[in-house]
Amino acid sequence: MADNPYATYCSLCNQPAKVGQVEDSREIVFYTECQRCGSYLIEQSFKQRLLDGEYTTDRAKIIVAVRIASEGIKRGGDVPIVSPKTVPDLIASVSFRRNPLDAGEAILMWARDQMKSFSDHALITIPHDYPLFYLRNEAELRDAIDYILDTEKWSAGNVHDGKMFVRITPQGWHKLEELQRAGKSSRQAFVAMRFNDEMKQVYYSAFEPAIYEAGYDPYRVDTAKNNNPIDDEIIVGLKASGLVIADLTELRHPVFFEAGFGLGLGIPVIWTVREDWFDEAAKQFDTRQYPHIKWKDAADLKEQLNLRILATVPGSYRRDPINKS
Ligand SMILES: [Zn+2]
Repeated sequence: MADNPYATYCSLCNQPAKVGQVEDSREIVFYTECQRCGSYLIEQSFKQRLLDGEYTTDRAKIIVAVRIASEGIKRGGDVPIVSPKTVPDLIASVSFRRNPLDAGEAILMWARDQMKSFSDHALITIPHDYPLFYLRNEAELRDAIDYILDTEKWSAGNVHDGKMFVRITPQGWHKLEELQRAGKSSRQAFVAMRFNDEMKQVYYSAFEPAIYEAGYDPYRVDTAKNNNPIDDEIIVGLKASGLVIADLTELRHPVFFEAGFGLGLGIPVIWTVREDWFDEAAKQFDTRQYPHIKWKDAADLKEQLNLRILATVPGSYRRDPINKS
């Protein structure tokens, strides 16, 4: 076929990109690798509609959603597809940062995650990286970076070709500690449940893999051994968590107290219960106002819990199963 003049540009942001054709039975599909938008698939007819100016108002949101989904590919996620079917969901999944403070915290946490050790530095490419932080454009990223510099959370070298090397300062590490303590940046998921032999099986075959494969690290406390509803160890564990999973099977009161404590700290709580215990649990604990995952068996729980975390908890992402062999 004749060379497509648009084939070397990203259909979303119009900057030069790597574009290849993928065989499809119905129509031509392009695989695009853009430094700003990430990797995605798009059908030729829809590519043309975007070039003709459709979705210009929501274009920045589409770019954010595609870039975020594309980052998940390294962790086993699918290549995002940009089509008339997926675009409304992509747009709905994005809300932009409201102020440089929120954006600054997100960028600081990202920078920490790029570093192999605390004496390392992170590289940020301003024209390409702004969608990673739910920002509309380069100018917003520059403002957020100025905010981080003003508050001395990091030190930065000069910008060359839009690239900036940054190092986190003691003030920055202190801020990260604070965020961690507030559970805001924590990847720990606190699991409150009965831990008898039967539920132990369910923990290892359902809770643990479902949580891990959604980007969180499970932290379990055996409520059966405690006489006090909440002891210090549990409070420390809850405060350091970014998510609480509370299973009400067998009506353990400590589970209910721990979930309540988590709610009080502003941590998202996901309630689960084996279906035969649901009525009793909802009656006894008055938790009917919260949606529960009612599960039949471990396989059912694993699937439902994994999807619920991915769908509702910010910061979750699909991650490969732990290889236990
Ligand atoms: Zn692009």
